[in-house]
Amino acid sequence: MIEVRNLVKRYGPHTAVDHLSFTVEQGQIYGFLGPNGAGKSTTMNIMTGYLAATEGQVLIDGCDIFEDPEAAKRNIGYLPELPPLYLDMFVEEYLLFVADLKGIEKSRRKQYVDEVLELTHITHVRQRLIRNLSKGYRQRVGLAQAVLGYPKVIILDEPTVGLDPKQIIEIRDVVKSLGKKHTVILSSHILSEISSVCDHVMIIAKGKLVASDTPENLSHTLAAANRLNLTIRGTQEQAEKALTGLPGLLAMDWKGSSESGAVDVELRSGKESDIRDDVFRALSKADLPILGMASGQMSLEDVFLELTGEKAAQAVLPEEGEEVDA
Ligand code: ADP
Ligand code: MG
Repeated sequence: MIEVRNLVKRYGPHTAVDHLSFTVEQGQIYGFLGPNGAGKSTTMNIMTGYLAATEGQVLIDGCDIFEDPEAAKRNIGYLPELPPLYLDMFVEEYLLFVADLKGIEKSRRKQYVDEVLELTHITHVRQRLIRNLSKGYRQRVGLAQAVLGYPKVIILDEPTVGLDPKQIIEIRDVVKSLGKKHTVILSSHILSEISSVCDHVMIIAKGKLVASDTPENLSHTLAAANRLNLTIRGTQEQAEKALTGLPGLLAMDWKGSSESGAVDVELRSGKESDIRDDVFRALSKADLPILGMASGQMSLEDVFLELTGEKAAQAVLPEEGEEVDA
């Protein structure tokens, strides 16, 4: 349905999109996930023909977006980061205007507008000025104009940004229902928004694709390691010495402990190996009591933070806080 090949976008010396390639299949909901500045909006603006790429190719249903933008755009409904609303128009008037722009047959415009008003739950404000609508309602009008005419592909850039939890759930439900008939791509910097609605998640960081899979597979296969969190009475040096060389142990991540005279560590081991018994024996032999032990798999949240390099920044914060407390 959509093919993005080796897409590059440079702003002067800065590379916002860095050789991005992916394929989007028909009839699925895709999540485009990445922290702010990752290149999501830039990619979406290029895919929808609003921005020229520096290098690369985008094919929408076989049409090259750069060579034949008219044909390619006919298949796309787009809600950009800043919805293209005319504040001095009435909701219905605006949607009829968009229907005209999209080249929808005159005889069908009224019916199509009625349908999208219904779908996005804004029928009751159809006679209101867009200027007088709340942020949540404006966003729904933006969504309505994207869906109008039922393009094969609907691309939504951070559709829930700035909305309250109730509005977020409503938008999510609309996206879910759209996914039954359309190919939907939505971006977000918030993982939970994506993982609950999307069939497929693409994670981008610094303009590069760092993962692309189903939400389930992402948390399973990328969480290739088991994690074991320990609080050990003793010093890091003692505990490190006792644990080093343990079979199956891949990595140790040392942290300060909230308990005095103790140290916290996160151990990673291979997916298939359970190192708990060996850890117990090794620490016991070194006379280092285990004050706490908990094992767990990486959550999708952890995977996301790790892949996008946000983990380090986050991990530093509580430790700084602890020093202030002490
Ligand atoms: P996202 O939507 O994921 O937050 P963007 O695509 O908006 O990211 O931005 C990607 C990077 O490109 C950022 O570092 C941003 O500062 C930069 N950028 C975006 N638009 C421009 C522009 N018009 N000129 C220069 N740099 C830009
Ligand atoms: Mg953006």
